[in-house]
Amino acid sequence: MDTDCLFCRIVAGEIPATVVHETDTTLAFRDIDPKAPVHVLVIPKQHHRDVSALATDAPAVAADLLAAAAAAARAEGLDDDGFRLLFNTGRHAGQEVFHVHAHVLGGAPLGPMLTPR
Ligand code: AMP
Repeated sequence: MDTDCLFCRIVAGEIPATVVHETDTTLAFRDIDPKAPVHVLVIPKQHHRDVSALATDAPAVAADLLAAAAAAARAEGLDDDGFRLLFNTGRHAGQEVFHVHAHVLGGAPLGPMLTPR
């Protein structure tokens, strides 16, 4: 655990979160500032900076994270209409929390993936 990391502190139970799905290695909870009717964050309990570090350092946990994202989407009722799975990675993507997290977004049509330039 990184004591300065917000999401490590959520895993430790030091900061409250609305948990929607949990496994031995992952935790899924509602985003505090939702960008869609359903907006869930799925994280590994282990601290890894971003999806690149996770894939390199703990590929089995990366697989767990994908399975947990699919399970969280299913639990949120997104199977029929679909959802978007997003990993902001680094500065150009606007990553704000440097503990890898998948955004699960859905519950309504989400529009284009990016605003056209
Ligand atoms: P990113 O920009 O990909 O790093 O996304 C970070 C996400 O974390 C944002 O969507 C925030 O709204 C969300 N967030 C920040 N603090 C919390 C919190 N305490 N509980 C739940 N979500 C949070």
